[in-house]
Amino acid sequence: MLGHVIVIEGRTVHYLAAGEEVSAEARSELVGFDFHEDRELAQHPRLRRVLTALVRPTPFFYGVLHWSDGADLKFLDREVISGEAKNTYFTGAVLAEPRTIACLNCGVQLRVLAIDTGQAMFAATLAERLRAHELKTTCPVCETRLGVQVVEFLHMGISP
Ligand SMILES: [Zn+2]
Repeated sequence: MLGHVIVIEGRTVHYLAAGEEVSAEARSELVGFDFHEDRELAQHPRLRRVLTALVRPTPFFYGVLHWSDGADLKFLDREVISGEAKNTYFTGAVLAEPRTIACLNCGVQLRVLAIDTGQAMFAATLAERLRAHELKTTCPVCETRLGVQVVEFLHMGISP
């Protein structure tokens, strides 16, 4: 119902391969899910959608594993689907979540995928992973430094 259950470094995640849908009944238990955004992310070349739970079994949190090292995610999909996923396939990945942020300088609203620091995923190696990752650190409009670690810009809005 909710993707493929895999364990990465001791954490259970529900992995959605490219194009796989989140079932309608599952959406109600999901934090952070947006139907149209999900459509857009479903085929993204640098990420795969994952659902994670914290202490309780529900709700699930909608997020993505993101790579900036050119990892072959179509290969990864096949391995996950056949039950062959290994921790080493996720060495270049970081966990990110969809968020709306505003630039403190120019006020533009940005829909982004930002590093999820609340979930302690890859905690032991996170600093190392972030150093190796290509992060977007400045506002795409005014180039002021952003206070959030962004892996992808999704949309830009006009501030109210
Ligand atoms: Zn700005």
